[in-house]
Amino acid sequence: MKDGFGRTIDYIRISVTDRCNLRCVYCMPETGVTPLEHGDILSYEEILRICGILAELGVTKVKLTGGEPLIRKNLSYLVAGLKNISGIQKVTLTTNGVLLADQLPELMAAGLDAVNISIDTLDEGKYHQVTRCGHRNDVLRGLEAALFYKELPVKINCVPVFSDNKNLLEMAGLAKDHPVHVRFIEMMPIGLGRNYDFLSENAIKAVLEDVYGPLVPCKETLGNGPCHYYTVDGFLGKIGFISAISHKFCHQCNRVRLSAEGYLKTCLQYDTGSDLRALMRSGGDDRALLELIERTILEKPASHHFNEGPEGGDEDRRMYQIGG
Ligand code: SAM
Ligand code: SF4
Repeated sequence: MKDGFGRTIDYIRISVTDRCNLRCVYCMPETGVTPLEHGDILSYEEILRICGILAELGVTKVKLTGGEPLIRKNLSYLVAGLKNISGIQKVTLTTNGVLLADQLPELMAAGLDAVNISIDTLDEGKYHQVTRCGHRNDVLRGLEAALFYKELPVKINCVPVFSDNKNLLEMAGLAKDHPVHVRFIEMMPIGLGRNYDFLSENAIKAVLEDVYGPLVPCKETLGNGPCHYYTVDGFLGKIGFISAISHKFCHQCNRVRLSAEGYLKTCLQYDTGSDLRALMRSGGDDRALLELIERTILEKPASHHFNEGPEGGDEDRRMYQIGG
């Protein structure tokens, strides 16, 4: 369907849990996190019900995220259920990769279409500094497992933090040596991300071009979202940038988000949206659910205002509660 500004909404990011096995400094506090009670998060059946209605409204692509989605038991059941919904064409996953090697076979059997693996640095010490408790090699094992499936598109997400040129070059080097797209994401001033500066696309590009040669813009559109890609001579994969700050892309936003507790959220920066769980658990039928979803999408804000500073109605949730 189209939102109030004529943008086609065909993509939903679903957070299946607010729990995580890492504590990335820009996303989640180290201590003092009270996870949602199990009864407060949507069951898989509730998620499937919502997605059936979203598919009727024209949503074709679902991204599973979190917290860390692989923490939630039996995620492959949800993947298979989503793949069974008429109209849903792609079910993909964003993960920190720590548990991926073990779970990928069953996710593939369930029909997973693509995976994004988040790793901000290849340096073990820095990786530990960013994630506070993670081990880079666990993620690399996940990446290796993903590369084993030649038919599985693999993307790497990197939010440069505590980063230097060596780090950027090593991250980009993954796309040189492997058929993966490496995407550099500008730090967004959401939650704990407000405590960190972003490294701009232009700054990263300059570092990469100095060593790897020109980054040539891709002519064809790749992927479902705001990432724009470049080819580099001799690289097996592409280099992408998600530059919410320096290259605002709200005019082509195609997505909504569903939080683990069932809040349909229409913009990363604002807390606008609707409580679908409340409607479902108070006996709302599918018609009522569809109407609420439609109304909510119609009220999707025009854009974020990251560059203008705080305004009323800003999101208080942190990124691990939203799903990125
Ligand atoms: N745990 C999974 C992961 O790390 O991929 C899924 C959830 S995580 C919130 C999704 C993505 O959001 C990750 O790639 C993460 O780096 C990114 N992210 C978290 N906080 C961010 C921020 N303030 N600005 C930009 N990206 C952020
Ligand atoms: Fe966990 Fe992902 Fe947030 Fe890191 S970015 S703390 S892995 S939810």
